[in-house]
Amino acid sequence: MAGKFAETDLVEACQAAAIFSGCASEQQRPIFHFDKSGSDPKGKRILALSLIHGDELPSGTVARAWMTRLNRLSPRNTWRVIPVVNPDGLKKGTRTNSRGVDVNRNFPTKAWDDEALQKWKSVTNEDPRRYPGPHAASESETRCMMKHIDDFKPDFIVSIHTPLGVLDFDGPKVDFPQFKPLPWISLGNFPGSLGRYMWKDHNVPVLTIELKGPLGVRHLEQFDQLQDISGTVAIQANEAKSKSTNKD
Ligand SMILES: [Zn+2]
Repeated sequence: MAGKFAETDLVEACQAAAIFSGCASEQQRPIFHFDKSGSDPKGKRILALSLIHGDELPSGTVARAWMTRLNRLSPRNTWRVIPVVNPDGLKKGTRTNSRGVDVNRNFPTKAWDDEALQKWKSVTNEDPRRYPGPHAASESETRCMMKHIDDFKPDFIVSIHTPLGVLDFDGPKVDFPQFKPLPWISLGNFPGSLGRYMWKDHNVPVLTIELKGPLGVRHLEQFDQLQDISGTVAIQANEAKSKSTNKD
């Protein structure tokens, strides 16, 4: 277990974890989630997830730290945390799931049929780590996430990854809070990715945290800071969104 947070706090957070019936991986491993209600009426509904890529261990460390912290906080926002989206990949140490599919290319984005496999061939040269799957939402892990989106109805999504060392945002124009270790950028998104599926197709902003180097293993106070920044951006992004809607 990486990270320095108290084991007892983590055990308590894990005891509060729940599971949807049928929310399991291709190899039938359960996909757990953790809920915590917010106290602020202006608070937003934030869905945070990690280890959609099974070989990005530090992302899971951050999600566990957030669960543990939420368990003892009274947060502004209402949170759902899914710490391990791809448990089979985690077990095998692979980015993809047990069927060799990149779950973050398997969401049913508009024009998936026309674009996903074609882009995989032309842009990634058929990189097996980025295989989008035989068809959209072909994978249990993808369908479980869709079930969560449908059930929880998030206003904002935080997807935790490694190792690019940036904060990548798909959403309306906002003033980003300063976070020195990870600069803000907009990388754009791919067919089948969660960023494209939720922001472009469903108007829900997505913050992708790409951890780098030692950040993700031992800087607990930075994990707290990252969580607070995510909560602030969730509120700002939704304000920016409703302002632009009112103008139309
Ligand atoms: Zn990743």
